Amino acid sequence: MMKTIANCPVCQHSHYSQVLEVKDHSVSGELFKIVACNNCGLQYTNPVPEEALIGNYYKSDSYVSHSSSKEGLINRVYHVVRWYSLRKKVKLIGKLSAGRNLLDIGAGTGHFLKVAKDKGWRFVGLEPDADARSFAKTSNEVDLLPIEQLHNQIDGQFDVITMWHVLEHVYHLQRDLERIVKLLKEDGCLVVAVPNRLSYDARKYQAFWAAYDVPIHLYHFVPDDMRRIASIHGLVLVNILPMPFDSFYVSMLSEKYKNGNIIRGILTGLKSNWLAKDEFWSSQIYIFKKKKQ
Ligand SMILES: [Zn+2]
Repeated sequence: MMKTIANCPVCQHSHYSQVLEVKDHSVSGELFKIVACNNCGLQYTNPVPEEALIGNYYKSDSYVSHSSSKEGLINRVYHVVRWYSLRKKVKLIGKLSAGRNLLDIGAGTGHFLKVAKDKGWRFVGLEPDADARSFAKTSNEVDLLPIEQLHNQIDGQFDVITMWHVLEHVYHLQRDLERIVKLLKEDGCLVVAVPNRLSYDARKYQAFWAAYDVPIHLYHFVPDDMRRIASIHGLVLVNILPMPFDSFYVSMLSEKYKNGNIIRGILTGLKSNWLAKDEFWSSQIYIFKKKKQ
């Protein structure tokens, strides 16, 4: 049922040490280990559910990126903030590229692509979850393709490829990244948003930090991991941008997991942003370009 990962997903080194044991708070209640590679330091969930079974761990009522329920304070805040941050994301990619061909991987319920479409982007959206795809179609009038279609896209056709909180879920990290980089135009941009365990909120909440989100978060990246991934795949990390709302959302959810106090969660979010500086935001957007030959 569980699969032990023998080699580091980034550097392939075969020795690792356990650093944390984290409960799956949203679905199964099971405990999962997070280990650190003894060579490159990547922290990853190990063992993980087998690929065919990991879908079961996504089946949570409160999995907000697949739900539009407005119940609960956290969800209500999330929906207000989402409206704002979707526009900010589309503005960002507009600044990164003059071309308007977009690939969004892990498109969820299509909210981002709907806004992008309204701003004139042509797009391909890929999403593994069939329910999310049909929601995207009926509610957002956005047609998404199954994730397997990643391997049927034409090389070098996209100006921008976005992965909003998706890379930490990608089961075949190196194989899929190799494919993704091929799909980018020579001067295209790859935009990857992931949580950052170096943030103040991560260090404060430790095993309760909601963005560990085991077992569906397979990797717990820091900026140096992203630089290492970039060099493996012929990319250059050109910028890191903050996602200042994530600290609030993640801290409130972490307080919920430890039966804490939602106000304390908000204050922790504030403190996290206050201390964040360049590379210590709760979640960050990494912008990559292809290395010039
Ligand atoms: Zn490693």
